[in-house]
Amino acid sequence: MRKWGLSFFGAAGLVVLIFGIAGCQRHPQEKRKLVIMGIDSGTWTIISPLVQAGKMPNFQHLIEQGASGELITFRRTHISPVLWTSMLTGKHPDKTGIKGFISAKGFPVNSTMRKVKDLAEILSEQGYRVGFVGFWASWPAEKVRGWMVSDLLSLGRYKDSGPELNYRTMDYSYLLNLKETTYPEDFIKEIYPLLLSPDQVPRESFEKLAAFNDQEWDRFQKIQLVSREDFESLLKFSLVSDLNFQRVALYLAEQKKPEVLAVYFEGPDIVGHFFWKYMEPEYFTKAPARDLERFRDTLRNYYQLMDGYLGELIQASGPDTAFLIVSDHGMKRVSKEGAVGLQSGAHTQSRVNGIIIFSGPGIKKGQRIQAPRILDLTPTALYYLGLPVGEDMDGKVLTEAFSEDFLKSHPVERIRSYDQKPRSLKEQRSPLDRELVNKLKSIGYIR
Ligand SMILES: [Zn+2]
Repeated sequence: MRKWGLSFFGAAGLVVLIFGIAGCQRHPQEKRKLVIMGIDSGTWTIISPLVQAGKMPNFQHLIEQGASGELITFRRTHISPVLWTSMLTGKHPDKTGIKGFISAKGFPVNSTMRKVKDLAEILSEQGYRVGFVGFWASWPAEKVRGWMVSDLLSLGRYKDSGPELNYRTMDYSYLLNLKETTYPEDFIKEIYPLLLSPDQVPRESFEKLAAFNDQEWDRFQKIQLVSREDFESLLKFSLVSDLNFQRVALYLAEQKKPEVLAVYFEGPDIVGHFFWKYMEPEYFTKAPARDLERFRDTLRNYYQLMDGYLGELIQASGPDTAFLIVSDHGMKRVSKEGAVGLQSGAHTQSRVNGIIIFSGPGIKKGQRIQAPRILDLTPTALYYLGLPVGEDMDGKVLTEAFSEDFLKSHPVERIRSYDQKPRSLKEQRSPLDRELVNKLKSIGYIR
């Protein structure tokens, strides 16, 4: 009797367990691992020659082992939060509600204004553990199964910054007092010791990007505010922001091991806009000889830095992890000097496509993906992870990236929508709105 009772409850428990697991995720036996690396303005024009010269070995490895192509961006807009939101939802801006840097009500867009679920939310609901770091308009950090680090983490110091938050010091302690910078809310305390303030970044790190004599280094160290008239300030704060995102991403990969990790880097965009002219000086008004000497390779160096970050992420992730590298658009030399203010690299004068590199178990080796679009990122990631694609998504699964075996054993599944009801959140204003606007103005994104 007693024996029978035990095994009965044991069996019942097992049934409950099986149903419990099946109810929260679709293919628990096949949970795959994915790292998404978002590189703003990542462009083949710079990557291809570096790969050919053996200077981006990690990119080279993924390109050779996986599928890649020129990622077609939107024609009508080149605005980062719009593009990244559409990439991470698979939906056009009229559906996402994120249509510019600034909302209809006149303040910087944020995650409360997004009308549909993004990849992090969908994956969380489907039982994946995620870590997302630094994507545009991700404040307030949404509730996910895992960790969300919003873009508020990366603010540099911009002209006319708010004195109330003490941005003028080189210290990031103000982050500890902000709400919803991360999810869980307390995660900011955990990662705060990892964050380097600009004066903690060693000279060698900057010397990998540009040359400094002692006097130049002295001046560089004293830069406390970002302004586009001072190209070195842009370089300084781009590196600090990307370095901190990388440190948080590595921490997540090593300590928390989310199944899907996604991290965003903005530096290639900012550095590309302002340092392109040193890379191709023959097309521009002659720069001072010393500047040419110091910055000729800065943009290329920055891409090599990204390659190093990729290498670290590969090291920190398991061998069965797939990597998906994407950019929102590419960049090219401005067609007429002075046409885009002080910028020498641009993506506003015509459509400049970005990059996609996808490599891992189940992905075709050495495959060229024909005509992928930024809207295809989310459907493709969902498919890879064994989840259905929403019929209301505007992108499609990039099936040609996958091996025949994978395609055969994994038919594309669809559901009507992940947004059964509209995602209606009360619109909030971030405590750093003024800072965000200053950032956009300092770089020249808005006037
Ligand atoms: Zn840009």
